[in-house]
Amino acid sequence: MKLLEGKNVIITGASRGIGTGIAKIFANHGANVAFTYSSSEGPAAELEKELTAMGVKAKAYKSNAANFKECESLIASVLEDFGGIDVLINNAGITKDNLLMRMSEEDFDAVIEINLKSVFNMTKAVQRTLLKQRHGSIINMSSVVGVKGNAGQTNYAASKAGIIGFTKSVALELGSRNIRCNAIAPGFIETEMTGKLDEKTVQSWRDAIPLKRGGSPEDVANACLFLASDLSAYVTGQVLHVDGGMLT
Ligand code: NAP
Repeated sequence: MKLLEGKNVIITGASRGIGTGIAKIFANHGANVAFTYSSSEGPAAELEKELTAMGVKAKAYKSNAANFKECESLIASVLEDFGGIDVLINNAGITKDNLLMRMSEEDFDAVIEINLKSVFNMTKAVQRTLLKQRHGSIINMSSVVGVKGNAGQTNYAASKAGIIGFTKSVALELGSRNIRCNAIAPGFIETEMTGKLDEKTVQSWRDAIPLKRGGSPEDVANACLFLASDLSAYVTGQVLHVDGGMLT
């Protein structure tokens, strides 16, 4: 059964990793996919082709999620190209890890702007459209680190914890208009990036997880599929942990 037939979805940061996984699974379920990237032009063009070949409408947009005006014009372009937006996935994110002692102001600000302010920018830009149509699902990518904290990631943890507060507040503000807003808190998800890490270290991380493996982009994408579709019609303001039991 196709869960998102004919729905228009916008995903930030889908040129790699988890975002790419979401785009593919959503297209497989019949969704038209608009997605953004920041610099990976080649992979974004390839993904656009791949999704189009799956029989849905797909388009890549170069857009900086941290920039308020760029988000406004992005949403205007997507509305023109796709004719509507039913689901927003705020997935774009970066890390700039360091101990607080060594963290620069620039690295703190960059992570807050790209990870957290981007969620404000995109939600604000899409809000009017969702309000008018009286339905919509917003999914924000938080992290286990936003719930638990992590040494060396004060900036990242603050941005991801901020996303949770933002998510719950939007759920309260927009619930009466049938607009749902939830967050996902992935644990350790294995992507090309983690493939470059030392295998022994990665194995020790896997061993510490109750399900004894790292997650895949598809694991996160399937949770997004649930929150985007009508299967979760009565779910809002929640943080769904996709972490193999890490926080249990
Ligand atoms: P990733 O592989 O590094 O991909 C990040 C994506 O975000 C890329 O498509 C990148 O575009 C895009 N991006 C970066 N800065 C942007 C900006 N300013 N504007 C628009 N797009 C931008 O990351 P990932 O591992 O898939 O993670 C995706 C999300 O899940 C992030 O929010 C991350 O914090 C969260 N998360 C990940 C894990 C994990 O273990 N991987 C765990 C918990 C939470 P370019 O390719 O053009 O740079």
